[in-house]
Amino acid sequence: MDRRYHVTTFGCQMNEHDSERMKGMLDSLGYVESEDREGADLILFNTCSIRESADNRFIAHLGEAKRLKSEDPARVVGVGGCWAQSVKDEVFRRFPFVDVAFGPGQIHRLAEFLTSDSLTAQGYFEFEDVSGHLPMKREREFQAWVQISQGCNCVCSYCIVPSVRGREVSRDPDELFTEVERLASDGVREVTLLGQNVNSYGRDLPKERRISFAELLGRIDSIPGIDRIRYTSPHPKDMREEVIRAHADLTSLCEHIHLPLQSGSSPVLKRMRRTYGRERYMDRVALIREHVPDCALTTDIIVGFPRRDRGRLRADARGGRRGRLRRGLHLHLLAAEGNRGGRVRGPAPSRDQARADGAARGAGAAKSARAGRTLRRAHDGGLVEGPSRTDPTRLRGRTRHNKTVNFDGTGAPGDLVEVEIAGATSTTLSGSERLLSRAA
Ligand code: SF4
Repeated sequence: MDRRYHVTTFGCQMNEHDSERMKGMLDSLGYVESEDREGADLILFNTCSIRESADNRFIAHLGEAKRLKSEDPARVVGVGGCWAQSVKDEVFRRFPFVDVAFGPGQIHRLAEFLTSDSLTAQGYFEFEDVSGHLPMKREREFQAWVQISQGCNCVCSYCIVPSVRGREVSRDPDELFTEVERLASDGVREVTLLGQNVNSYGRDLPKERRISFAELLGRIDSIPGIDRIRYTSPHPKDMREEVIRAHADLTSLCEHIHLPLQSGSSPVLKRMRRTYGRERYMDRVALIREHVPDCALTTDIIVGFPRRDRGRLRADARGGRRGRLRRGLHLHLLAAEGNRGGRVRGPAPSRDQARADGAARGAGAAKSARAGRTLRRAHDGGLVEGPSRTDPTRLRGRTRHNKTVNFDGTGAPGDLVEVEIAGATSTTLSGSERLLSRAA
């Protein structure tokens, strides 16, 4: 009888990608995916450790796995991802019903565990390999995640990523080229390149194999069938002019850059160990505006970084406004243990911080809505993703500016359409379609 598995994913796009690899590997072992945990023999969690809320939600889900395991002890419970790596020394002591735990660099070891004679509790936490080498089970038919690197060499004082994903490891450029070619022949039209620090890609490659991120973008742009390229996350310190020019020169590279600012205050950026100041960031923004005038720019801002004064809180909101940065992502972060900045623990967000957070969110949303309104009667190219989530009689697509657009039309998933924008909110656009090309 088929063994059935269920995977729950928390956190970022890299975790979504890793879960697609986990599923691809399990399918190749003859497992079948179950729609829910009750129907699964193997219950897996791919965890995040950046956001406290993700931790809390995960622990609640783990409680259900414990109940299901007590009902059927033959069930196997596994925990992977960043949280598992961050508590590697205590995971089995704290959660004795967990059978296997593995870090982001050890997903392949799950296969070893499942095919071994004894399923006694086992943990795998070395930074051994990238999940990009495993078979993939894509959630989306015409879009695909492509992991170009794993890990990060930066030491941002609030970030746990370097300690749970290790140092930067770039995948070989030919291997990536072949993978994207294969995806294109499989009907994929849009690829998103993933890395904790995508624009430092290639620096760790052997000299004779080394290419820059801009060169990698150029190689992928040359692959027939790939109509859109996106990437996340770049670092402002590595945002070179050649990468910015690539947005102007390469047909399939979308006019959207998500460039995390984190703070509008240089002294705070210094304490965050971001290795760039506000001036450098604004200089990059200016260069982007020069080469790609209609580029959509989004960012992350951390509100509530410890030891702040009002002036600095205002600087953040200003940073967002001046950079014409659209909708920002705001995080109340309590720095987790284990990051190199040492223990940077801060008070719970104060009223001021909550107010500043509100101001920054408001500024971002207002800016986004205004930007949307300027798009009215404009046309924006959309990749049809499926029916609208709010109105099933309409279609949903993603524009080259990475905006969700709901529209009236006849296209099918995977089609490229041109949408005449008729309306906008801070998060979505709406309009009507003019078909450009059908999915192959
Ligand atoms: S926040 Fe800093 S340390 Fe964390 S992944 Fe990004 S660049 Fe690396």
